[in-house]
Amino acid sequence: MQEKGTISIHTENIFPIIKKFLYSDNEIFLRELVANAVDATQKIKRLSSLGEYKGDLGELKVSVSFDEKKKTITISDNGLGMTGEEIKKYINQIAFSGATEFVEKFKDAKDANEIIGKFGLGFYSAFMVADQVEIQSLSYKEGSEPARWICDGSTEFEISAGNRTERGTDIILHVNKESKEFLDKGKLQGILDKYCKFLPVPVQFGNKSTSEPDGEDADGKPKYKSVEVPNIINNTSPIWTKSPTELKDEDYLSFYQELYPFSEAPLFWIHLNVDYPFNLTGVLYFPKLKNDFEMQRNKIKLFSRQVFITDEVKDVVPEFLMLLHGIIDSPDIPLNVSRSFLQADSSVKKINTYITKKVADKLASLFKADRKAYEEKWSDIGLFVKYGMISEEKFYDKGKDFVLMGNTAKEYFTVDEYKEKVKANQTDKDGNLVLLYATDAAKQDSFIQSANKKGYDVLLMDSPIDTHFISQMEQKLEKVNLKRVDAASADKIISKDENIVAVLNDEEKEKVKGIFEKAIVKPGMKVEVDSLNPDELPVIVTMDEF
Ligand code: ADP
Repeated sequence: MQEKGTISIHTENIFPIIKKFLYSDNEIFLRELVANAVDATQKIKRLSSLGEYKGDLGELKVSVSFDEKKKTITISDNGLGMTGEEIKKYINQIAFSGATEFVEKFKDAKDANEIIGKFGLGFYSAFMVADQVEIQSLSYKEGSEPARWICDGSTEFEISAGNRTERGTDIILHVNKESKEFLDKGKLQGILDKYCKFLPVPVQFGNKSTSEPDGEDADGKPKYKSVEVPNIINNTSPIWTKSPTELKDEDYLSFYQELYPFSEAPLFWIHLNVDYPFNLTGVLYFPKLKNDFEMQRNKIKLFSRQVFITDEVKDVVPEFLMLLHGIIDSPDIPLNVSRSFLQADSSVKKINTYITKKVADKLASLFKADRKAYEEKWSDIGLFVKYGMISEEKFYDKGKDFVLMGNTAKEYFTVDEYKEKVKANQTDKDGNLVLLYATDAAKQDSFIQSANKKGYDVLLMDSPIDTHFISQMEQKLEKVNLKRVDAASADKIISKDENIVAVLNDEEKEKVKGIFEKAIVKPGMKVEVDSLNPDELPVIVTMDEF
């Protein structure tokens, strides 16, 4: 049997367009072909469980190999295989028309580069790196003959008798000149690690040597010998595919190390698992946050059925959750669409809301379960919670119950607790609460001391995010004023009825003021000699808030 034919597709010349388009992202060919091979093994497994395939399944597996001399890369599987007719149907029609659609849709797209990596172009992506693609396949169906198909990416193909003797498929890429970088062990291993590390079927890439016990030497000491074993590149059951009840803390921690080797342990994590109205699994970790957010953003990896898609998740998770690490696996996130569409997509919106809620619930439960532990972690969690409250309305509403405010004595309060604490002593003439805060405990120490002596509490708001957090609190909290402890007006507005002992008369005060003004005052500074209580700092130099 030998047959030449022409694949009928609507756009004649998709090949050059695909090549041009995908050049920067051409490594995804391997992801696409390995994913197809895995699908083929899953399909035969299912046919077997349905009783439609009665033969021996064997050990289902995919293997990737390359031959530098022949300039080929081969992806093999022992999945369900294809007959010649099926190749014509699935490859000539589905794969080629998929590629045509892709080209039609995106040839004018401005953000083509972003779409490409995410878009499952499928089988046709093989032509990004190969002059010729060959298929050798034997279907599981009884009485099938092995088939061979070969094509150079144009619409001409050739199909003939193949040479496979066992069920399954080999995809053989005859690598083109521009892509010879892929005929390299390190390069291929790197791509497999990136995209295929958590696929559900073992993926073998060559062999590796390990040592094995080999009896004892003359002194009775154990001997070892070096043996070659298959180099399986993936972990077939990563933790997000398991039920939380099967998992221990160590499992989550070691998975974190697998994702981010040599990282500091995370503070805690959330196991996501939802079937309806969208399908999503995953594990999100709270890292130990550093003030420098940028370094820690964009660490969430997006998967679709255990195939790595991208670590650009900014359209899928809310902005503030970009600080989390971990993985999200969802076949329901549309990857073949442009950014603006994605933001408006209803599943993406639901996913957003779901993740925000899960994160808020987790924080609320940690706060409730062990307040002390929560406070201990507050310096890390706090940045995140405040950032979330500032940037996401939905999160503000939940966060206000577990956001903590620390004072200069290192005590922590919820917003309500703090209001309660200061309400007796820190109100202005209109009955509004006056909250004092310091932005730099060392520099503002004299002001803090002075306020404390008057019985006022001072919050410590010294992280970069606090400036924004303070203005948000001012907007959101009713009848509350926040004042920097060293602001000229700070303690003036608190109404008080203290017994002030005058030790200086007005004239004397003016004199002292004059001396200070001459000696140290710069524009914007103000000298006050109005603290007349001998226990307190008699002279205060203030600088206005900006
Ligand atoms: P998709 O996988 O999105 O359907 P592809 O272009 O990747 O599109 O593949 C087209 C079709 O070719 C698949 O749906 C499948 O039926 C068939 N196919 C591809 N690779 C294999 C394989 N390794 N074994 C069996 N069938 C395959």
